[in-house]
Amino acid sequence: MKNIILIAPPAAGKGTQAKLIASTYNLPHISTGDLLRKEINDQSEIGLQVKAVLDSGKLVSDDIIFTLLENRIIESDCIGGYILDGVPRTLVQAEKYLKMIEKLNYPLGDVIYINLPKEEARKRIVGRLSCSNCGAIYNDQFEDMKPITFETCDKCGEHLIKREDDTDQVFNERFQIYENQTLPLIDFFTSKGVLFTVNSGINKEATFADVKKVINRGNYDCN
Ligand code: ADP
Repeated sequence: MKNIILIAPPAAGKGTQAKLIASTYNLPHISTGDLLRKEINDQSEIGLQVKAVLDSGKLVSDDIIFTLLENRIIESDCIGGYILDGVPRTLVQAEKYLKMIEKLNYPLGDVIYINLPKEEARKRIVGRLSCSNCGAIYNDQFEDMKPITFETCDKCGEHLIKREDDTDQVFNERFQIYENQTLPLIDFFTSKGVLFTVNSGINKEATFADVKKVINRGNYDCN
C-alpha cells in the first residue's frame, strides 16, 4: 500500500501535483474539498450542514472530515494506496489521522511538502489575470507572464480580469491560517521520519520531476 500526503501553501500547485501523481501511479486522489463539494451537490445531510461553512472559507468540523475520509479510504480502490490532498490540515487532524490508520492497520507512507516562499506565493496569486473570452492565463508580477499590452489578452485582444478574491488582503489571511495551522505539520511529520520536501518549481512538470524522485526512491513501480 502506497499512501502519500501532500502539504503545501496556497498557490504551490498541490491539487495539480495530486492529479499528476494519481494518473502516473494509478492511485486515487482524495481531496477533502472535493469530498465536501460532492456532499453539497448531492444535497446529503452532511452537504446541507457544511454548505455555509465552505461558503465562509472556515474549516469544517473534524468529525465530518474524518467520517468522510474514513468512508473513502476503506473503499476498494484504495487497497493499493491513495493520495491525500487537503487533510490533515491541522496538528489535531494529524493526530486523529494517525489513530485512524492505526485502527485500519494502514501505513503512514510518505508526506510530501511542496515548498513555496511566501512572497512567491503572493505574486502568483495577486498577479493572476485571466482572459474573460478565451481563458488564457497571465501574471503581471512576472516579466515573462505579463500580457504585451496592459490588461489585454495577447491571443484574442479581449479584456483581462482579476478574480475578486485575488487580493493582498485575502492572500495575507489565507497565508496566516496556513502558517498557524498547517505549517506545524512539517515538524510533526519530520519527527516521524516521513517528510520529504520538494520546491514548487517554475512549472508543474519541474515540480513533478522532483515529486517523482521522492516517490521512486524505493522500488515502487511507475507506470
Ligand atoms: P482550499 O485549498 O481553497 O482551501 P479545498 O478544496 O482544499 O480548497 O477546500 C475547500 C473547503 O473545504 C475549505 O475552505 C474548508 O472549508 C473545507 N475543508 C477542506 N479540507 C478540510 C479539512 N481537512 N478540514 C476542515 N475543513 C476542510
